[in-house]
Amino acid sequence: MFSEKLLLRLKHSSQLTIMTGAGVSAESGVPTFRGKDGLWNNYDVQQLATPQSLRDNTEIFWKFYSWRRELLEKVKPNLGHYALVDMENFFEHFTLITQNVDNLHRIAGNKNVLEIHGNIMNSYCIDCGERIEGMDGFPKTESIPKCHKCGGFMRPDVVLFGEHLDPQRLRQAQDAAATCEVFLSIGTSAVVEPAASLPYIAKGNGAYIVEINAEKTPLTDNADESLIGQTGKILPLLIMALDKMR
Ligand code: NAD
Ligand code: ZN
Repeated sequence: MFSEKLLLRLKHSSQLTIMTGAGVSAESGVPTFRGKDGLWNNYDVQQLATPQSLRDNTEIFWKFYSWRRELLEKVKPNLGHYALVDMENFFEHFTLITQNVDNLHRIAGNKNVLEIHGNIMNSYCIDCGERIEGMDGFPKTESIPKCHKCGGFMRPDVVLFGEHLDPQRLRQAQDAAATCEVFLSIGTSAVVEPAASLPYIAKGNGAYIVEINAEKTPLTDNADESLIGQTGKILPLLIMALDKMR
């Protein structure tokens, strides 16, 4: 299933950078945005997950985010997440860039995680900046949660459509892409910028680009290798193949 070239590349690399998307969490029961069974098909997420919706339809905005949080409190990492924890131990330098906001890479045990779109379980006050990490201490009962310090509006710590990414986090992700020897793009439709540009930064700097996804994406034909299938199946097999080579 894996080419000799890929396994040798991985074996002889000291720096691996991975970018994940909603596809790695699909087998945990977290809906993706695009692709078959994506959230998009049932909800107009493009309108819900925006600064305008937070400002003008605050109650519906929070209904959507509270629903996503409740769903996430019930799900667990899958075999694909755990394989990426094993992967972290293989390499001297390892960066896991994720577009996911679901916290599952951290729950699984990965350490060097860059959540470039934020983390849905964290919140902050728009008025005074007060932060609440995780769901403990978050006012769950109110339909529009208010800041316990100043009474201002709270929002989830995620990048909404039309908002900019944290520049420092983005710079770290771009550096990790520019300096790696192998770049894996996993479970992402590879269309949301600026994340979609990261594999091209890696490629421009000589890295070997590998895509693992359930279907073809705009990246597929530009990658050095493409593995079509489920991450929960492919990633554990990849770890087994690497283990054998050690
Ligand atoms: P996306 O929904 O656009 O694409 C997911 C891709 O994964 C699709 O190409 C799909 O074919 C593929 N896929 C689905 N199940 C798979 C599986 N089991 N194995 C392999 N591939 C599978 O996701 P994206 O590219 O991450 O979109 C980016 C935006 O969606 C981000 O802004 C992100 O914050 C947001 N998002 C996050 C979550 C989450 O945190 N879990 C969920 C939905 C959307
Ligand atoms: Zn406040």
